[in-house]
Amino acid sequence: VALGDELILGASVDTNTSWLARELLGLGIENTRTLVAGDDEADAAEALRLAFAAAPLVIVTGGLGPTEDDQTRHAAARVFSRELVFSDEAWQGVVAWFERRGTEIPAANRRQALLPARAQVLRNLTGTAPGFAIEEAGRLLLALPGPPAEMRAMFTDAVRPRLLARVQGGLAQRSFQIQGLPEARFAEEVGEWMARGANPLIGCSVKDGILSVTLRARAADPDRAQALADSRAAQFRERFQRYIFHEGPEPVEEVLGGLLIARRLSVSAAESCTAGLAAAQLARVPGISAVLGATFVTYSNAAKMEVLGVRAETLASHGAVSEQVVAEMALGAARRAGARAALAISGIAGPGGGTPEKPVGSVALGTAVDGRVETRLVRLPPTTRESVRAGAANLALVELLRRLLRGEGPA
Ligand code: ATP
Ligand code: MG
Repeated sequence: VALGDELILGASVDTNTSWLARELLGLGIENTRTLVAGDDEADAAEALRLAFAAAPLVIVTGGLGPTEDDQTRHAAARVFSRELVFSDEAWQGVVAWFERRGTEIPAANRRQALLPARAQVLRNLTGTAPGFAIEEAGRLLLALPGPPAEMRAMFTDAVRPRLLARVQGGLAQRSFQIQGLPEARFAEEVGEWMARGANPLIGCSVKDGILSVTLRARAADPDRAQALADSRAAQFRERFQRYIFHEGPEPVEEVLGGLLIARRLSVSAAESCTAGLAAAQLARVPGISAVLGATFVTYSNAAKMEVLGVRAETLASHGAVSEQVVAEMALGAARRAGARAALAISGIAGPGGGTPEKPVGSVALGTAVDGRVETRLVRLPPTTRESVRAGAANLALVELLRRLLRGEGPA
């Protein structure tokens, strides 16, 4: 349960529950329901009741602050029919935090030491708000602060070990990143492995041209769960080998960036319709400066010629969105940047600009590795301009990654 007016009014986005759901999954605990409510005692209490109707463990974030609108303690007290009492232990935590900072304690912060009777205090080492736990009649409520950094620290220090000690059975997870297979065809080929209630169960989500697949197996003991996951993963691999470019949950830029850095392979990019998206994606990878020098945004034909040395005849006879042009762009980028590898993107992002031969969503992709070029013309779903651009950037990264995985470039 995420509490906060800012979350229901749209001023900020709830990221706490998705982070928690992933952490819990890692512990073998599957989230069954997520609720968001405002800073109102009755609404918060209702959300807690709805959450407990779905599962015996409920984690709530937010609403632990010192102000009037922080209602979690009241809502929890109501749901468990308990009084709010002043907790010396919680107060000591608040005092200690202000002492470490060397500042006076505002009077309002005394509220933070009010907890439902007999609640256990969860110490907050990164902020003022103490968290708390209430356990009664098979139900466990954990209340954590709203600021994501504080919430994560408290979960990791105080909650994780406690949950780990009591999970029964095992859950094993495997992930695959897939490209080149439309979602509908994937679903068709994966068939009953994706059916509700299947064990192992396969789920997938599509984003910007890439299918992220998760395989989850449950069993009474952890070793059995691992074995189940391994055998289904082997079958999955066999069926989808051609399309899998990575095993694991990592996004393509992380895998490609890691490989470029590990192999000390310098890289550049020449981008038209994506105007730097692919380079920006690579730049998210820490340490990429070891291999990333210059990249180029060449939107116009003139820029493609002047900056990258694309020939006027190539542009005239094949058009800017063509395999011939991206080949010259990739080679030009590698040469200008002094890089051994380069990728190039030129496409029609829309909504205008499409032709019968090259409709909106047509994207030419090129990669160069040590002077050898490969190109492809793909057609992305023309959903929106942004989806075409994001998809084009992703696919270019996948293309280069695939070449490195085939053993091109330095070992
Ligand atoms: P305290 O800061 O005293 O713990 P609190 O727990 O109510 O009080 P807020 O003051 O409501 O926290 O929120 C503090 C910050 O944390 C705000 O920037 C808010 O947007 C952010 N935040 C709160 N809940 C979430 C959430 N579920 N996901 C992402 N950010 C959140
Ligand atoms: Mg709040």
